[in-house]
Amino acid sequence: MPATPTAPFRITLLPGDGIGPEIIAVAVAVLKQVGQQQNLQFDFAEALIGGAAIDATGSPLPEATLTACRQSDAVLLASIGGYKWDTLPRSQRPETGLLGLRSGLGLFANLRPAVILPQLLSASSLKPEVVEGVDIMVVRELTGGIYFGQPRGIFETEDGQQRGVNTMAYTTGEIDRIGRVAYETARKRQGRLCSVDKANVLEVSQLWRDRITALHAEYSDVDLSHLYVDNAAMQLVRQPKQFDTIVTGNLFGDILSDAAAMLTGSIGMLPSASLGESGPGVFEPVHGSAPDIAGQDKANPLAQVLSAAMMLRYGLSLPAAADRLEQAVLTVLDQGYRTGDIMSDGMTAVGCEGMGQALEKALSAS
Ligand code: NAD
Repeated sequence: MPATPTAPFRITLLPGDGIGPEIIAVAVAVLKQVGQQQNLQFDFAEALIGGAAIDATGSPLPEATLTACRQSDAVLLASIGGYKWDTLPRSQRPETGLLGLRSGLGLFANLRPAVILPQLLSASSLKPEVVEGVDIMVVRELTGGIYFGQPRGIFETEDGQQRGVNTMAYTTGEIDRIGRVAYETARKRQGRLCSVDKANVLEVSQLWRDRITALHAEYSDVDLSHLYVDNAAMQLVRQPKQFDTIVTGNLFGDILSDAAAMLTGSIGMLPSASLGESGPGVFEPVHGSAPDIAGQDKANPLAQVLSAAMMLRYGLSLPAAADRLEQAVLTVLDQGYRTGDIMSDGMTAVGCEGMGQALEKALSAS
């Protein structure tokens, strides 16, 4: 049954660089189609970020882009960066635009799912029996911890040496807000939350563990466990199926979310969501701008399409529309369509556009 009509959802599109424009075009086409099927109206507006913004305006995050993002209901980002801008000073690099967007929108929670699709079991470097059925969500704190703590820098010591310093710090407020996102996320999944820290060595981790434990009183329906980060890394590759939702700080989350993602073995399949307290979230693939294959119709658009599905689910609260998109991805994989990065024997090779057409056909038939 189509849903009743709603006010238009304002979506800012940030195609960025490299393969970005190719993969976001596929996502927009399928979003339009799902919108028609579900009687939803999406208003898309494009803005500049990354290298494309540097070329046009001199800045990797023009003020107009940040304003457009703030005024929208959700932001769909593709990827930024490329060889051309690698030698610019840090303040003018494409990555600086991405960090500016995250801080400008107050995006403190990063959600990274790692799901093993049965169709792509052989893409993992681990044994099929170890990874089959893996479905993990890593909730990473994104705007605090050691990446932002003060003091930081490289200082001269009295005896003439240099001393590099970074500071890992979290306040109770910062821990509580990411903790709540994680408990809420676990509730929508299998109801199991594992908090990862290094509380046996670090005071900041002791506070983290104390607060996550205290919050459990409000979420007693969720099963809570704790792991030290070294053990968590080991368990992720030893027995990944034990995990449902993982919550952790910025540094540990950076490392563990990459490890969890790579259990799936295919970077072209991995979406992510970054959320703030209020205001729009940013939804983007985990991979970069893949300049080596840009403009050649070789990119896998599925991570971008799955990011659009996360946008529907977590950014716009449209779970039925998200289900449709995710189901279309499963259907085209079942039908044997593969881009180069996930190709295997006996499958049908398609380019970025071909995968888009297969998705549209699958949606039409649904
Ligand atoms: P990358 O993810 O762009 O590419 C790594 C490898 O994976 C390449 O061989 C690439 O061809 C392949 N690949 C990536 N996405 C693919 C897709 N959708 N389909 C098929 N193959 C795909 O990482 P990199 O090469 O380290 O970085 C390239 C540029 O991207 C750099 O400028 C980097 O700074 C930037 N980058 C941006 C983001 C982002 O936008 N969030 C993230 C990582 C890297």
